[in-house]
Amino acid sequence: MESKFTEAYPKAPDEAREANCEKVSGMLDLMIDGEASTEEQTFFNHHIEECVSCFENHQKQKLLKGLVSGHLKRVIVPQSLVQSIKARIQETL
Ligand SMILES: [Zn+2]
Repeated sequence: MESKFTEAYPKAPDEAREANCEKVSGMLDLMIDGEASTEEQTFFNHHIEECVSCFENHQKQKLLKGLVSGHLKRVIVPQSLVQSIKARIQETL
């Protein structure tokens, strides 16, 4: 007799958290620009309280934005520049 238990079983906590990580990383820009809804902010803040890697991502992203807008005074930044800064941050991980 085949068991369907594995399908019905709730996701392992790690898997659920990873799904939230994806959601949170997609929200980083909204959060930093202050464009996230109250609901999104609550979800985001709750997640980074218990997820160190997303917390660090948020810190880096804030730093990056501050750096970029501080230097260029919110002039549109070429995407290639943002990418190269991001790549540099990734390297230091
Ligand atoms: Zn996370």
